[in-house]
Formats: sequence, structure tokens, C-alpha cells
Amino acid sequence: NNKMANSDRLGVDVIINDLKNNPSCVHGPTVLFERFLGNGHSRKFYSCSTCRDRRDCGFFHLADGKITSCKRELWARLVIEAAPILSHQERFKIWKTVKRLPASDRSYCSSCSSLLKKSDMSDHGSCAVISPISDEQLSHPSTILVPKESSKFEAQYLFATSSVSVIVGMLQNLNTSRVLCIGAPRVHEAIASSPHLNMSSLMMDIDDRYCSFFSPKQFIQYNMFNHHFFEGETAKNTYEHFISVDENLVIVTDPPFGGRMELLAHNLKQIQDDWRRSRGLDSHRELPVLFVFPYFMEQQVISSLPSFTMLDYQVDYDNHPLYSSGPKGMKNGSAVRVFVNLPQSMFPLPEESYHLCKVCDRWVSINNQHCDKCNGCMSKDGRTYKHCDGCNKCVKPSWVHCSDCSRCQPHDHRCQEAGSALTCHMCGHSGHKRMDCPKRKLGCTLSDDESKRKRRKRNKNTLPLSLEDERMRRKTNKNTLPLSLEDERMRRKTNKNTLPLSLEDERMRRKTNKNTLPLSLEDERMRRKTNKNTLPLSLEDERKRNMEIFSQLT
Ligand code: SAH
Ligand code: ZN
Ligand code: ZN
Ligand code: ZN
Ligand code: ZN
Repeated sequence: NNKMANSDRLGVDVIINDLKNNPSCVHGPTVLFERFLGNGHSRKFYSCSTCRDRRDCGFFHLADGKITSCKRELWARLVIEAAPILSHQERFKIWKTVKRLPASDRSYCSSCSSLLKKSDMSDHGSCAVISPISDEQLSHPSTILVPKESSKFEAQYLFATSSVSVIVGMLQNLNTSRVLCIGAPRVHEAIASSPHLNMSSLMMDIDDRYCSFFSPKQFIQYNMFNHHFFEGETAKNTYEHFISVDENLVIVTDPPFGGRMELLAHNLKQIQDDWRRSRGLDSHRELPVLFVFPYFMEQQVISSLPSFTMLDYQVDYDNHPLYSSGPKGMKNGSAVRVFVNLPQSMFPLPEESYHLCKVCDRWVSINNQHCDKCNGCMSKDGRTYKHCDGCNKCVKPSWVHCSDCSRCQPHDHRCQEAGSALTCHMCGHSGHKRMDCPKRKLGCTLSDDESKRKRRKRNKNTLPLSLEDERMRRKTNKNTLPLSLEDERMRRKTNKNTLPLSLEDERMRRKTNKNTLPLSLEDERMRRKTNKNTLPLSLEDERKRNMEIFSQLT
């Protein structure tokens, strides 16, 4: 337990570089992380941009570890294998067929994630099949797809109908004509199925089940943590075209709350840059965003997205016990709010529960009373806050001023020493932050430099220190192994001795040819086990080894 607390306290930083050059896992390019071990030690490694839980994605590679061709091949293969057998276009074709049938002849197989005609249902005897499927359900797939709530990384929590209306109302107020829904399927469905709104919507989400319900022009499988387009250039072009049209564009996003805010913010800025560039706008123009996030994580949002402020509107969900109101929900109703980068006065809220504060020029909960001393409507959680003269600010109604802590606290709190909150991620000592740590030396840690030098001395034939170094080495040396999946594709296209050229080709090949190269990872593993000549025997072994290294790091 002590160890847990320790690894919690010493943090992991994201190092945002050009992600395209990082190795890829099935979720797209990985991210370079730096874990601080105390005493000035730190370790850099590549890991999944999206899954914090190693059980969801086992990708792990120390930044100074060697990238063998075998490893690279394994990674590339995993990416190819993870791709669905049917392309988006093919899956949407089925939608078109099914759409023409009466509701009673339509079904959806939840086990195989595919729409079916009645005549195909016999193949799904042991599957979970939903039938009939109404027109409403066909246009609102989120009502039949089982939400992946338990999956930590997808964290699918769906807006209640009332909140969809309020958000769509906000978009109308802003005179929006194009909406980019990133991780917001319910908003996309509402817009796409309501022509009278005169808005068009493009949905970008990691959940590829939506390929069965929306065309490649309406839905793109996308990862918001690394700006990765799973369906490649065509999908990226669709996105670029969508944002380039000269109409009022707004982004609506309800990201998983456990993800890395730095990455989300970085990618939102990337989208904004793309938008500006495609329309020839200057760098002062901000792309309007409705960013849905809990109020108690407000600091995270504002520190990464400084132009954002928090609306007082409480967002309600259908399937979230913590974030919805009602008997099972939070005491004070939903904790989720909408953050915006436009003036708050542009967001009128439903008059049953909200009112306009004329002083603030902002719509707030009717319980949120304006404080003259703070000069604002200070409540965060929807209750009426009270002003404390000792703290010189408004605090939660149940809090009391503690003279030992010299600030307001819950009445049952345990007093702590002042300043204990300030703890260094580098050395673990209190009193300064990581950036000011005396043990830290401009971006690179002493111990890292030392160990690199030692390692180099030991090994005459030096191992690459980082992927960057490795790439340089390979570029200068001519005895090249593939540098990246892209390069590899190029090489294979020019060389005729083909392995799969692209996912598309691979799919075709698999469909036509029966006698072929390892079709599955399993086959490949067998081959490698019988042939003795190889490194990572299996993903499992690889994972075990990684786990060992990783646990040494924590
Ligand atoms: N409240 C929203 C849904 C939010 S749940 C609504 O009702 O419309 C989070 C959404 O983000 C889900 O649709 C999930 O599939 C998607 N998501 C999760 N991780 C993602 C990622 N890395 N990139 C893109 N979308 C992601
Ligand atoms: Zn991953
Ligand atoms: Zn006010
Ligand atoms: Zn006050
Ligand atoms: Zn106080």
C-alpha cells in the first residue's frame, strides 16, 4: 500500500513530441511517457496513448530499448490483425440493405456487432440478437449498442434526452451549421436525424461499431488522444474537407474523464490549426468548442485550455450513477459541466432551474447566489455557497473555517501540515515542484545521462538510445530495416515480393486466396515456436517481460 502511495505521488509525465514517429499500438501512435522514480531518477517509455490499464493495451517499450525487426514486425502485425474484416464501406452497405426492410425483418447481432437481415439470423443462433429494429433505432444506434461503461478507456456514458436538447439548443443559439462530434454519439444522432436543424454533423469516435450505422462521410473511427485516423488518408481527407467548408463550425466533445488532458488539449489545438489553415484564418480566431467534463476537474481543463470557462449547466446521463441526478446519483445532482471558449452570455440555460445573473452576465443555477465580496456567482456544485471572511472566498455550505489549517474544511477533516500539498515528482521531497527540483537538470536527468554513458561504455556496439537515434542510425546505415509502417508499405509496393501492401489489399487477399501467409497471430506464434530462430516468441512472453520492467519502475 505504501508503494502505491509512493508511485501515486511520483508522477508520470507525457512528453508531447511528433507522435507520428512513435511506435504504434492497435490504438495508433503511442506516447512517450516519463516516470519519476525519486532521487532524480526517471525513465522514459512508449506506451498506449489511450489505455492506462495495461490489461486493455499491453504495449510497452522503454525509450532507450532496442527496437528489433522482430518486435517491429510483431507490432505491425498486431495493428493489421486488430482491423475489422469488413471495411467501413462494406458495413454501411449492409445498413442500406437492412434499411429497406420492414422493422420486423431487421436485427442487430450484439455479439458480432453487425446488422442482419432476417434470413441471416440463423447463423447467429448462440449470439445476442436484437430484433425488430425500428427506424428510430437505426438512426440512433446508441440506443441499441450496449455501452462499454466498464471499459476504462472507452467509458461510454450517454447523455439523457434533456441534455441532448440543451446542447443542441446551445448549438442553435450559436448559429452553428457544422458540428464535429468527438466522442459524442448522441449529439451526432440528434443532428443527423433532424433535417429541420439545418446542421450537418461529422462524428469521430474510437468505437467502430458505428461503422454499421453511418457512412464514411458521417462517421470516422478516430482516436482523440493521438489524433489518429484508423481508416487512413481517405478518412483524414473527409475530416479535412468537413472542417474547411466556410460555415460556422463547432466542436462538441465528451471525452473519457480518466484520459490525459495534455493530449486532448494538444489534439484540439491541432484541429484548430487545421481549421485555421484550411480557411486562411489568422491565429487569433478560436474554434468554438463545447467540452464536457466534471466540475471537480476544472483545474485540469483550465490549465490545458486557458481560454475555457465553466458553464453552470448540470449535464445529465442515462447510464452514469455518479454523474446523473436522481436517487442513485450524486447528492447534489450531476457533477458534469460544459466548458466553453466563448462568452458565457451566449449560453442561455433552461429557465426552470437557471437564471441570468446580470452582474456576471452569465446564466447560473437558481441556487447559485451572487457574492458581492467575490464579485461573482461562486457555486460550483449547484448548491448555495457561503462567503468566508477568513478564506476571503465563497466555500461549500457545509464547510467550517479551521484555524489550524487556516482555511475552510469539511467539519470532520483531519488537520494537515501546511504546505504538504507541494510535493516534488522528481525527488519526492516537499517544498518545491518538479520543475524547480535541484536534482533536475534541464530536461534530462543526471542519472539518466550517467547510466547512458555507462551503458555505452559497456556495450561497444551501442544499442540505440531512443527510437530517434535508431532511426538516424538506420537512415545513415544503408542496411535498412523498415523505419515505419509507412516506409514498409512503400518498400513492399516497390519490391514485388509482397507481403500485405495495405489493410485493404490484405483483406482482398484473404478473401480470394485461401493458401496463405500467417493469417493469424496464433499461426505466426506457432511458426516462431517451431522455428527456433527468433526473439519475442509470443505477445504473452513479451508482455510478461514488459510487466517485469514496468514493475521495477513503480
Ligand atoms: N455523452 C456522450 C458520450 C460520451 S462517452 C453522448 O451521449 O453522446 C465517451 C465517448 O467517447 C464514447 O462514445 C466513446 O466511444 C468515445 N471515446 C472513448 N475514448 C475515445 C478515444 N480515445 N478517441 C475517440 N473517442 C473515444
Ligand atoms: Zn493501445
Ligand atoms: Zn453573479
Ligand atoms: Zn464570496
Ligand atoms: Zn474559511
